Amino acid sequence: MTEPHTPRTVRAARGTQLTAKSWQTEAPLRMLMNNLDPEVAERPDDLVVYGGTGRAARNWEAFDAIVRTLEGLEADETLLVQSGKPVGVFRTHEWAPRVLIANSNLVGDWATWPEFRRLEALGLTMYGQMTAGSWIYIGTQGILQGTYETFGAVARRLGGDSLAGTLTLTAGCGGMGGAQPLAVTMHGGAVLIVDVDESRLRRRVEHGYLDEVAPSLDAALDRVLAAKEAGEARSVGVVGNAATVFTDLLEHGTPIDIVTDQTSAHDPLAYLPEGVAVGEWADLAALDPEEFTRLARASMAKHVEAMVGFQARGAEVFDYGNSIRAEAKLGGYEHAFDFPGFVPAYIRPLFAEGKGPFRWAALSGDPADIAATDRAIVELFPHDAHLKRWITQAGEKVHFEGLPARICWLGYQERHLAGLRFNEMVASGELSAPIVIGRDHLDAGSVASPYRETESMADGSDAIADWPLLNALLNTASGATWVSIHHGGGVGIGRSIHAGQVVAADGTDLAAEKIARVLVNDPGTGVMRHVDAGYERAVEVARERGLRVPMQED
Ligand code: NAD
Repeated sequence: MTEPHTPRTVRAARGTQLTAKSWQTEAPLRMLMNNLDPEVAERPDDLVVYGGTGRAARNWEAFDAIVRTLEGLEADETLLVQSGKPVGVFRTHEWAPRVLIANSNLVGDWATWPEFRRLEALGLTMYGQMTAGSWIYIGTQGILQGTYETFGAVARRLGGDSLAGTLTLTAGCGGMGGAQPLAVTMHGGAVLIVDVDESRLRRRVEHGYLDEVAPSLDAALDRVLAAKEAGEARSVGVVGNAATVFTDLLEHGTPIDIVTDQTSAHDPLAYLPEGVAVGEWADLAALDPEEFTRLARASMAKHVEAMVGFQARGAEVFDYGNSIRAEAKLGGYEHAFDFPGFVPAYIRPLFAEGKGPFRWAALSGDPADIAATDRAIVELFPHDAHLKRWITQAGEKVHFEGLPARICWLGYQERHLAGLRFNEMVASGELSAPIVIGRDHLDAGSVASPYRETESMADGSDAIADWPLLNALLNTASGATWVSIHHGGGVGIGRSIHAGQVVAADGTDLAAEKIARVLVNDPGTGVMRHVDAGYERAVEVARERGLRVPMQED
């Protein structure tokens, strides 16, 4: 018997036996527990799911109270969760969300890391990241799919729908960056990835994310250039410092088509400067952090200068959300911002159509349920080759972590078709138990984050945070099963406000009605936000697909 309120192994229930009073409360209960499953969470004992300190609940006492409350919650009651702690149960109605969540929110002038940490130490708040505190994290499949979308958008920018015949150069093969080689090969391209730490590259080979580690840069180049020439998918890792290798490849005129980087540049102590050995890294950074930062920034300046050089030679070059441009500028390189961030470069046109990460999980725990939904998605959107390629390869290559789940990007007036189909499949018994349908907060209409998702908005509205709040209010009014409003996810305290929703497809007619509203309205706020910012494509989508925007009407 485990002591109450102490760490223990948590795993969501599987199968059709309810532990709560209905599937509408069983769904958040299983997804909270799934976030803390040791297969899913980075540090389950500390309730940390991912992203540094992104937690699912404030502490074990709060976790126990959430579980207890959800188990007994009625179909006309709503539980309120304040930064991971259950704080109230109110009588509402069956269309209302069963859970409403607010995580990590602080008043503007107080929205700094030191103040947040002070309040956290007092036990008054927790960091919810995006999907940790809103109970819809699905493991590394999320980053792989996001990276797949980005490289898909790069392929379209280059005029095709695959990367066959292209060579991508990147660096950083860590937890998130390690998704890059597989995402490129899924699009048929060749990729060379540089990392200072051989063990990181070897780990990706073991997990099937990287094809091989070459013994030298020359050997690596032979392999990837042959693959580029033959139009074959191939990923090769090489041990080296990106500042050195990128500069050498530029000087030698290597024919590279796409350049990016995912070293941990956002933290200068996590970027290895040239001339420092991997074995000395931790000691030197701890001994003199300021000098180490100076050296790291100088190397980043050289690294980014090479990236700008590739851009001048015609390559597609972009910052992949790691702040390397800002650090290189601090390192003295004035042209660091000559290439764009990945959102304005590739993702914003998708956001303008309400396209973003749509994810679902099988509450049965049965992988066959996800296989059936995969087939349903391909049948529903038969002409979307990009989507079909992802779903097919994800079915073969993605290992489930926790409850089986899937993610793909769908847009406005598409997501509800999938949701309604899943609900029918639950009703007919084609699926063995209900499905939850949610998304990352990194979506078209649900985030204000001026360093990432809303960088360089056409009308300058990068920091306007009314949009994610309206998104959450609308999802609440539309029948979502749980809705959340967070601060600081992805980029840190003071830098973002974002919202999430999850709707449970339990096979009932009522769920179908809710799905028909939530999964239209939620991406609809993305189209609305981009119409308002002046994006022509969003105006067209609103017109073609019947979204009412009063300021566009006569
Ligand atoms: P990580 O720490 O797990 O991996 C970073 C890797 O970079 C390590 O393997 C390290 O050995 C390598 N590295 C460090 N200095 C190097 C150098 N000079 N040359 C070559 N390799 C070097 O980090 P991660 O989780 O993979 O995230 C990487 C970066 O991407 C972070 O800055 C993170 O914030 C950012 N990120 C962006 C997005 C996004 O918006 N697309 C999503 C997730 C992460």
